[in-house]
Order: sequence, then C-alpha cells, then structure tokens
Amino acid sequence: MKKAVFAAALLLCGCAAKTPEKHTRELFAMDTYMSLTAYDGESGSESAEAALSEAVDFINALERELSVTLSESDISVLNSASGERITVGSDALSIISTSLEISSQTDGALDITVYPLVREWGFTTGEYRIPEDEVLQDLLQNVGYGRISVEGQTVALAEGTEIDLGALAKGYAGSRAVEILRVHGVTSAILDLGGNVCAVGKKPDGTAWRVAVADPDNSSEYLGILDVEDKFVVTSGKYERYFTGDDGKRYHHIIDPKTGKPSENGLNAVTVIGTDGTKCDALSTALLVMGEERAVQYWREYGDFDMLLVTDDRRLLVTDGISDGFRLTSDCQVSVIE
Ligand code: ADP
Ligand code: MG
Repeated sequence: MKKAVFAAALLLCGCAAKTPEKHTRELFAMDTYMSLTAYDGESGSESAEAALSEAVDFINALERELSVTLSESDISVLNSASGERITVGSDALSIISTSLEISSQTDGALDITVYPLVREWGFTTGEYRIPEDEVLQDLLQNVGYGRISVEGQTVALAEGTEIDLGALAKGYAGSRAVEILRVHGVTSAILDLGGNVCAVGKKPDGTAWRVAVADPDNSSEYLGILDVEDKFVVTSGKYERYFTGDDGKRYHHIIDPKTGKPSENGLNAVTVIGTDGTKCDALSTALLVMGEERAVQYWREYGDFDMLLVTDDRRLLVTDGISDGFRLTSDCQVSVIE
C-alpha cells in the first residue's frame, strides 16, 4: 500500500515539472552523418546548447587529429614516418592503446594495421576493385598489431606498416562527447554517430531510450528495439559499406586480417552494448571478423558487455543481459546466449 502511494506522489511531481528543452545538432564528420540531441539539465537552460557546441568542436578537432586523408593529422604523419618514433596527441594514443588491448584479446581479429588492405580494396577512395591474391599476400607482410610500438606519448610503426583508427574512432568520439555533456550537467541525451549510438540517462519522460537495430538485409526496416540507459550501442555490419564486384559477389569493408579479404563466416551484423564506447566500437568490428562461435566464446570469457548477433541465415542471438530489454519487431528466430 505504502509503495502505491509513493508511486502516485512521484507521478504527480513528474507532471508538475517543466519538460526540459530539447537541443539538436547535425554534422558530417568521420565520413558519416551524426546527430546529437540533448536536453537541458537541472543546472538550467542553455546547458545542453553549450554542451553540444563543445561536443561538435571536439569531434571536428578529433577528425583533424586522426584522419588518414588529411596529410597533417597525427596518423598521417605516423604513417609516413618510415619507422621513426613520433609523439602523438592523447586521443590518438588512447585509441591506439585500446586497439592493441582488443587485438591481443581477439587474436588479431581487430588490427588497425589492415589499413593498406582497406585502401587496396578501394574503401578509402570509393574506387573499388578486387585485388589479385599476390597483391594481398604482399600487403599482408606488413600487417600485424605487433608492428606497432607504444612508449609513453610516442608511437612507432615498423617500416611499411600503416594504421587507420576507423574501427574505433567513432566509439571514442562518442565516449568523449558524453563526458563533455555530463560536465555541462546534461543528464538526458541521445547521440547517433553513424552506427554508434550513445544513450545518456533516460528520456526526459523517465523511460529508457529506445534504439532500433537495423535489418542488415533491408535498409528501411529494423529487426527489433533495444531499451537502454547510460549505454553505448554500436553496430558493425556487412551491409554498411560494400560494393558488387565484376564477379557479381558482394564485398564489404571489414577485413579479416588473416586473409586480407572481407570477412565471410556466416555473421552479417554485430551490435555491442556496453559502458565503454571505444571498446564497444572495437568489439563490434572484431566480433564480426571472429564469427558466431568465436564471438560467443569471447563474450563468455570477457562478458563485460552485451551483444546481438545477426547471421546470414537471419538467426538472431542475444546475450541474456539484454534479452529482457529487446523487443523483436521482425520475423527472425531469436535465441539467448548464456
Ligand atoms: P563503420 O566505420 O562502418 O561504423 P567499423 O567500426 O566496423 O564500421 O569500422 C570499419 C572500418 O575499420 C573500416 O572501414 C576500415 O577502415 C577499418 N577496418 C576494417 N577491418 C578492420 C579490422 N579487422 N581491424 C581494424 N580495423 C578494420
Ligand atoms: Mg567498430
């Protein structure tokens, strides 16, 4: 009885409170459309507006630090350093360190040194082509996360090795943007950084944020809805970027560092849900390369995140931590991973 009265009282207070004002920014950065929405926090009006301006500035500056297409970026300087040790900014350093941690945990499924291969397939320029096997073998000689050495603030790449942080950069951008929002007192926000969704707190009405999981086989549909709160929801899928070769086959942008070719293992898309945006992004890429069996094994070993796997034959696997917060809206067959 007491409980019911308390709930009713809370509801009344909820009705009396003014709905916080919504602020939105859209930008194109890191090769994707981003949309940031934040609501004013208790510290008063304008807090979300200032927070969003700072977050947008941060993302644009981060892109200038990391981009492989801007010759003055830290990463471009490193890539053309011919083995020399280079001092990099703290963002680049942090992302490279996280990538190395995930590389060693995933037996190299995530490997930022695949960049020359990504370029050879045409994914950096849009001039797609299927490379000859000989070319792939040649480029693979310089692939391997062991060819990256971090010491203090400096990084050295073995001669011939080049890196690209595309697999984790948006996750890192999201993490930092969320930090900026919190410093400004924002307690309710939803950021969509192109396949990387950051949910801050709950919706202003007190319910969880609802994040749609895209249908990899049909871009205008989704498979289901995830209810999340203070989480990052990051998806990597074969459908995100691909081309159809002269042989009629589809080639996507996530490369298996062992073969130098787009991963083909029966897994179509991976969504990772967790509290560390950079790791979620790194893992969504790595698990797609690892395939269903190894992804499940990895989750059982490290398990500080949840995941949703979609197979080529449209089976959907969700870890038990999110099975209650997931509502299926498609005809997929769902099973729970424990
Ligand atoms: P998206 O950028 O489409 O959201 P991901 O986060 O999965 O998707 O990152 C894919 C990008 O990472 C590719 O475009 C490529 O630049 C790079 N990449 C591809 N394969 C790998 C890999 N095995 N390890 C690390 N980076 C990769
Ligand atoms: Mg990723």
